[in-house]
Amino acid sequence: MIGKIIKATLNVIEMPLKRPFSTHLQSLHSRKGILLELQTEDGVIGLGEAVAFESPWYTEETVETEIHALQQWLLPIIIDQTFDQPIDAYIKMSNVRRNYMSKAAIDMALWDIYAKVKQMNLADLIGSKKKEMYVGAVLATSSFAMMKNRAEELYRDGYTRFKVKIDGKETFEQIKELKRNYPNIAFMVDANGAFTLDDMDLLKEIDKEGFLLIEQPFAVDDLVEHSLLQRTISTPVCLDESITSIQELKTAHALGAIKALNVKVGRVGGLTPALEMIEYCREHGIEVWCGGMIEFGVSRAVNVALASREEFDIPGDIVASDVYWEHDVVTDPVKVKDGKVHRYTKAGIGVELDYDFVKTVTIKTITM
Ligand SMILES: [Mg+2]
Repeated sequence: MIGKIIKATLNVIEMPLKRPFSTHLQSLHSRKGILLELQTEDGVIGLGEAVAFESPWYTEETVETEIHALQQWLLPIIIDQTFDQPIDAYIKMSNVRRNYMSKAAIDMALWDIYAKVKQMNLADLIGSKKKEMYVGAVLATSSFAMMKNRAEELYRDGYTRFKVKIDGKETFEQIKELKRNYPNIAFMVDANGAFTLDDMDLLKEIDKEGFLLIEQPFAVDDLVEHSLLQRTISTPVCLDESITSIQELKTAHALGAIKALNVKVGRVGGLTPALEMIEYCREHGIEVWCGGMIEFGVSRAVNVALASREEFDIPGDIVASDVYWEHDVVTDPVKVKDGKVHRYTKAGIGVELDYDFVKTVTIKTITM
């Protein structure tokens, strides 16, 4: 039983990244985010994180649209209401169209409360069996020299799987060169929609390289194009931006446009719908793996719990917190040892806010 939600606090924070994160769409140097705290009548506090970027290059949501959606529409549905389980709130929020990352922040916080009340760690509560897992990392640099340096650092830290951003012939040649240097590393590529059907010859070349998967080669709405590609190549087509709901997942599957799903709790509207999508993927032979959003420690703790489910065979993008941040916002940030992350064990998502530090990076606080 979650109980009655009596208070919500939105901490809007901004932190510099230790190194820029570059795709063909955007280069990020600092990160804004929203840390959400929900409090129950019994004094239990649940943490959530809204993971949209400042501009709508990844999906249509931004930090500002999240503040608006949470303050105007979503939190008023939640506050002063009593819930048994997270899904009860999720159903209530379905009257608000889309705004998935905002909904996910609330859903995460409710799972944190739900697990704390049950005195269980979230991973146990959602049936995760793995105690530790191998993790991978994204190489998103603005030059080949930087990419090679990053790869070497991550390799030395024990990462076993690299995801590299690809946007055409030149980056493909660079990735091939890099891949030859690391024969023991599994490589996947992510295009963030950089290709069109005109690039089919290049995509056939990419197919021959034996990547673990190719993520989001075409634009968000190009499901038909993805299905044409999957019929032509044997590398699994993985969808990220294209899939924000179970309905889109079913459509992509019916079209034959998807063999792997990058599960991001924020993008799909929370852990509640993510679990439903994982179930669907298991039933239909679609591979799942856990992506990342350059998140702070709250959302990462949820990713760790999710990725310890047995369906997640491919190492997730759960890099150590100190790859991105000098200091994370939580008391027990994600650490990677010998290429592995250990599950949290404390009740709830397993971390608490480091309030003294959060104060120093907060640019706005909204209490409701
Ligand atoms: Mg992606």
